[in-house]
Amino acid sequence: MTPLITATAAPLATPDLPPPADVLLDVRDLRTYFHVMDGTVRAVDGVSYSIKRGQTLGIVGESGCGKSVTALTIMRLLDIPPAEIASGSVWFKGRNLLCLPEDQMRRVRGNEISMIFQEPMTSLNPVYTVGDQITEGVVLHKKLSKKAGLEKAIESLRLVGINNPERRVKQYPHELSGGMRQRVMIAMALACDPDLIIADEPTTALDVTIQAQILELIRKVQDETGAALMLITHDLGVVAETVQDVIVMYAGRVVESGTVDEVLLAPKHPYTKGLLESIPSKGKRGQRLNVIKGTVANPFNLPAGCNFAPRCPYAFGPCSTHDPQIEAASPPDVACWLYTRAPGGPPPPRLRPHLAPLAGEPS
Ligand code: SF4
Repeated sequence: MTPLITATAAPLATPDLPPPADVLLDVRDLRTYFHVMDGTVRAVDGVSYSIKRGQTLGIVGESGCGKSVTALTIMRLLDIPPAEIASGSVWFKGRNLLCLPEDQMRRVRGNEISMIFQEPMTSLNPVYTVGDQITEGVVLHKKLSKKAGLEKAIESLRLVGINNPERRVKQYPHELSGGMRQRVMIAMALACDPDLIIADEPTTALDVTIQAQILELIRKVQDETGAALMLITHDLGVVAETVQDVIVMYAGRVVESGTVDEVLLAPKHPYTKGLLESIPSKGKRGQRLNVIKGTVANPFNLPAGCNFAPRCPYAFGPCSTHDPQIEAASPPDVACWLYTRAPGGPPPPRLRPHLAPLAGEPS
């Protein structure tokens, strides 16, 4: 597959040219910082990836790794200040969203790019009916009459499997169950026929049985509508069931990318391995689960070298001094010195069987 990511500090060769037409979203070297009392948090620190039309991409990582901030930056929904989009570009359908005037950006949000948030009770407005809330976006963006907008709302609710949508459009969010509210959020996201749906932890607030239904629904509507899907989650099981490609983030950086099979069945980065080993399964019954030792890097005091080094069981020479970067041009799509030789550093240990030996290194 085409490498998805370049989590590098180096500027890209052609940062200002739009991507090819089949690339729907192209995020390049994005950096989003928060300036707060205690200092500056580099929440997103040089992240790049792209999504083609109709493609599904999962973004995984622990809380605080920058997944959601990346999405909010794309949608330009951050308060500036304290946030600052320090550099980078977000190409969507040939336009750099970071350069669009606010009135044009309003036409993108909810229309061409829709977002499904993780907590439907707080994302829906409690004083408006479900129908009013879905209709508002359709009337605004698609220039439909209120009556036609309501019909579109009913059609969207039917698409997400809500029974008797003609009655449901007249109900308020508090009259619906958690699963039904999340279906309403998905209906809202679909109502304007977006090109890209960003789902931010769409099942986190739901019971396990409802989670499965909602994931199935997201898969189904993505399939039927042909919209691209960016699924943000900390749950690798959700990723395995829902998307084709995945990127793994740690401390504001992308550390690994590939197809779901590549990343989940043959993980390369020690962080990805640690995440997978900490998932309980039937085969591990009675055994002590492996956990990633330590805590997520302090954003005010990131280590020199690799951000993951203090927690990494494989850390060696260059890890504490050199910042690993993903090679943009060719695999492996992993930011780790186990797979690439650090500048002036020793040959990496033998954990990289897919790479040819370096000059002078025994094969
Ligand atoms: Fe571990 Fe070093 Fe790889 Fe970082 S670069 S993940 S510390 S082996």
